[in-house]
Amino acid sequence: MSNTKSRIRVAIQKSGRLSDKSLGLLQSCGLRFARSKDKLFWYGQDFPVDLLLVRDDDIPTMLLDGVCELGIVGQNIAREVQLASNGGNELNMLRKLNFGGCRLSLAIPEDSDIRDANGLNGRRIATSYPALTRDLLNSRGIEARIVKLSGSVEIAPGLGTADAISDLVSTGTTLRANHLVELETLFTSTAALYTSDIELGSEKRSILDRLLSRLDGVLQAEESKYVMMNAPRKALDDIARILPGAEHPSLMDLEGTPDRVAVHVVCREGVFWEHLEALKAAGASAILVLPVEKMLA
Ligand code: ATP
Ligand code: ZN
Repeated sequence: MSNTKSRIRVAIQKSGRLSDKSLGLLQSCGLRFARSKDKLFWYGQDFPVDLLLVRDDDIPTMLLDGVCELGIVGQNIAREVQLASNGGNELNMLRKLNFGGCRLSLAIPEDSDIRDANGLNGRRIATSYPALTRDLLNSRGIEARIVKLSGSVEIAPGLGTADAISDLVSTGTTLRANHLVELETLFTSTAALYTSDIELGSEKRSILDRLLSRLDGVLQAEESKYVMMNAPRKALDDIARILPGAEHPSLMDLEGTPDRVAVHVVCREGVFWEHLEALKAAGASAILVLPVEKMLA
């Protein structure tokens, strides 16, 4: 018997780089929320999934404490919190998401004598990711002195409190503005959907499975294109080879031209101009590429 009172909670970032995309993704899965006045808890209207809007740093701990069942957060923060927690529950990454991309990089002052990561042995590294940085360096046999800072890490070398930094970078503008150069990337991160290993029970499990199935449809659709064209029957094998991740095409007769057919096909990967030019060279005409909004396998 399913208990209609079971609900699950998803924590997302309240305001920041991940907020809009996280909410948009859940809305693409058909979730609608009644926004409460205090704006921290949004009730799910047509689906038993509610939203908690919090600081991103708090999301992994909320998952580990069982305050919410799901959370969308950067892998950088999830790994940091997991490594810093001493045993107990574990975080599980359910799906990697296509936003929030950045890298945790080592950087040094432009005039530094450090040449590579091995040169960091025994030196001071300022970072907001102490556990992750230590773990990544230790796995390569490098022992540095970690200086933990909660923000403005990039000014530490200029102030003389560190020889290097380990910080999130997307374009590198902040590094350049502080006369730092990137030494190497330690870790690449995107936003991801996490749960913990706390037992959910069958009702919550089935809500989660339904949500994941919708989410997979959305993620798959983001990559996919619906391609239509007219083509010579004898070019069909070539066309299947040209289109990336093409599924079995549907063929329709074209009135009055027995040797040409209309071809409709879903491609699971990006379709680029090169593909269209190759299709044209293979004899296709009237080629249309359409976005796929939803997909359920
Ligand atoms: P909060 O108030 O929720 O603590 P915040 O200031 O810590 O917000 P944001 O700057 O919004 O967080 O970054 C959230 C996440 O976005 C980061 O943890 C990281 O996963 C990702 N991200 C993507 N690009 C960058 C970047 N250039 N710098 C920092 N984080 C980035
Ligand atoms: Zn934060």
